[in-house]
Amino acid sequence: MSDSELQEQLMELDKLVDDQELNDELQSLDDLIGELQEEKEVAPVKTPEPRVRWRKRDIDGNIVYARPRSSRNQSNKADPIRKSDPPINAPATNCEVTFAPEAVESFLQDLQHSLSNTSDDEASSLETSRGPLLASSNWSTRQSLFSERWRTERPRLVNTAAAHENVATRICQQCGSNPAAVRCSDCRPQPFFCAQCDVSMHTRHVLHNRDAMTAGFYQPLPPTTFVVDKALSHCVRLVPVEIPYKICDCSRESLRVSPGKTVAVITMNGRYDLSMPELSCEACQATWAAGVGDLNLSDYWPATLHFATIYATDVFFSFEEMKMAAPGLSCQAFLRMLDQRTVRFGRCGKISKDSFQKSFFEWEAVRYEVDKICKEEPFICPACSPDMLAVSVDGNRKHYHFKNAARSEEKAIFEDVFIAKDEDVTRFVDYIHKTSKHVSGRGVCGGEWSAARETSQGSASKVDEEGLELAVCRHGVLLRALNMYRGEIFAYPLYLQEKLASRQIHLFCMDVTCKYWPYLQRVAKSCPELQHLLNMKPFLSVFHAKAHDFKCEVKWSGAYQDGAGLTLGEEVEQCNAFLSRIAVTTKHMSKAGRTDMLTLMAMRWNQQRSTLWPSH
Ligand SMILES: [Zn+2]
Ligand SMILES: [Zn+2]
Ligand SMILES: [Zn+2]
Ligand SMILES: [Zn+2]
Ligand SMILES: [Zn+2]
Repeated sequence: MSDSELQEQLMELDKLVDDQELNDELQSLDDLIGELQEEKEVAPVKTPEPRVRWRKRDIDGNIVYARPRSSRNQSNKADPIRKSDPPINAPATNCEVTFAPEAVESFLQDLQHSLSNTSDDEASSLETSRGPLLASSNWSTRQSLFSERWRTERPRLVNTAAAHENVATRICQQCGSNPAAVRCSDCRPQPFFCAQCDVSMHTRHVLHNRDAMTAGFYQPLPPTTFVVDKALSHCVRLVPVEIPYKICDCSRESLRVSPGKTVAVITMNGRYDLSMPELSCEACQATWAAGVGDLNLSDYWPATLHFATIYATDVFFSFEEMKMAAPGLSCQAFLRMLDQRTVRFGRCGKISKDSFQKSFFEWEAVRYEVDKICKEEPFICPACSPDMLAVSVDGNRKHYHFKNAARSEEKAIFEDVFIAKDEDVTRFVDYIHKTSKHVSGRGVCGGEWSAARETSQGSASKVDEEGLELAVCRHGVLLRALNMYRGEIFAYPLYLQEKLASRQIHLFCMDVTCKYWPYLQRVAKSCPELQHLLNMKPFLSVFHAKAHDFKCEVKWSGAYQDGAGLTLGEEVEQCNAFLSRIAVTTKHMSKAGRTDMLTLMAMRWNQQRSTLWPSH
């Protein structure tokens, strides 16, 4: 298309837009006139008849629809009208087909909403039409109305809450004859049981939360307590695990279930002290006891392999989900919450904190292996593999780790899955420093700006790891990380770049590219095996560039890179917003625990990212 043609088209478009705006204005004027007229009339509600319809036609006579207006514009436009006008005849209904269908649709809905409000209010109170109507358009008035309604209702709610605690004489809803002795809130809609029916029901449903009614008030009962002759008595209850149908060739009649060792079962309702079921055959003396595998099949996970404590996997799922929603949540806080629930339901015993975390990670390790079998790669972005447009690398100094935090020699389960092994990184850094004879990059640009500095000595403070260096793709998917020990030296991004080089990356984004790239060029001279890293294009993150020298921005800023599109190179910051909140808990953890927790959260973050994308 030639320039002049384009010019012409543009002008035509301009004209159309102008016309449209004129139409809009005419429309609202028309509305105003209509409303003024109606104000004079006494009739309160009357749907005005369709009046003039504005239709824009193009040269060929086709109807031209207005551009759909954004909802924000709409609300801006609609609000003053609604406020200033008498509410009864809110914006007229004559705009059915005049504009783009979407715009009209939402406008109509708005209208219908306000109209229905009118009729509702008029139906309820004929004499007052103004007050409640104004309230419905004003958020704060509406809120105070809501709370007013709650306030008027409160005395009644107090009554029902008190009545709920009243132990009236009830009849067992199971047999329908004996007086009820137990209320089970998990057995609704028939919560009341006599002593016998309670035993027969809750021997099977061990985890139900029951209350005894014998003392004249509702008294929460642990599962091992039941009512006999209006007094409480103790017994053993079995953990609800799946037991085999047969353990030998004898008939099933000779099979006996007996309580075995006692275990603490932890569910989202806290701790239960129960017994493991054991099977024995009276005829051939064969026995069976649940092993770790049987527990897994029944959705339990042992705290240790001897399982004195077993967790319902639901607890782990919930912990993980809560950790994702509130990354600063500590294990202790979560367990304290479970302890509170134990007490609330009339049971006792604390949940051991030490085994919980270990057991949780072991459970996650198994899930990770299963995912691996299903070919789910957690640290690969499905949107940009195999061809990756941009990778952005930056350090996060919030992930420091105290030297004196829990010391142990245990190895992390997820070692080298996400965070690179410290030895590998150290070896690489030493190699680079040796071969390049300490090419030091000057990390200062644009006066105050000093994001990365090449220093070789480790800091002498109380922290061990000083932070994390992260590599993230353009979509905010975490790819790789390493622990920083010497401040943000350039060898760290170099390590990550080298590790990711196999992924066909076009742009390498950093906040100090202007200093890093000359460094890389010098290093590549002395280490020819790193030459291929120069095939990537340097990219100075767009927002960080603003703080650099002006010339620097022009030369390096990613905003002027060919093929970068709208890439910002700031994607690490997105992930940091999430990851930094985990640091509150990981800085006191053991080294292995920290690695596992960070890897796990990074994995879940990546999974969450991919659910945000449209599927097609
Ligand atoms: Zn009964
Ligand atoms: Zn029940
Ligand atoms: Zn047998
Ligand atoms: Zn990606
Ligand atoms: Zn610069």
